[in-house]
Amino acid sequence: MKNKCVFLDRDGVINVDNVNYTYKVEEFKIIDGVIPALKMLKEAGYLLIIITNQSGIAKGIYQHEDVYKCHDYFDRESGNLIDEYFYSPYHQSTSESLSRKPGSLMFEKAIAKYDIDIAQSWMVGDRERDILPANKLNIPTILIEEFPNTETSAKYKVDSLYEAAELILKKV
Ligand SMILES: [Mg+2]
Repeated sequence: MKNKCVFLDRDGVINVDNVNYTYKVEEFKIIDGVIPALKMLKEAGYLLIIITNQSGIAKGIYQHEDVYKCHDYFDRESGNLIDEYFYSPYHQSTSESLSRKPGSLMFEKAIAKYDIDIAQSWMVGDRERDILPANKLNIPTILIEEFPNTETSAKYKVDSLYEAAELILKKV
């Protein structure tokens, strides 16, 4: 039997987005309701996979090590709820990559590695570039709206990951 998965963008979904990049543990602020939401999804049998662009590495703002430290911190805080983190360190200013969203390569790798059933899975993001690669692969999409009436090709719009989890689990 194939696995079902909730793919998650990181910045703006798990932790508060920061225009100056989030790469210091002390600036990694977990959004309220995120850990309970992830627990509900995990208990319902979903794999939880983060797919995140980290172009600050290509730009020389921070290092791979900083990304690992933030993810280790979240693992400790959440009790290891995330199955895997895929991140793209690239940026078109230095190197083009199919992994950087809206490219779909990180999703494709995860789907192959974990034998994921797309039809039973979801992508939750806060930017259109999170939604586009998932749409391309026919993964149902949920946009966490930062501003009201955002134009999006996502199937659903919600205000938080907690609300997305309720939608996925049909509790609303
Ligand atoms: Mg984001």
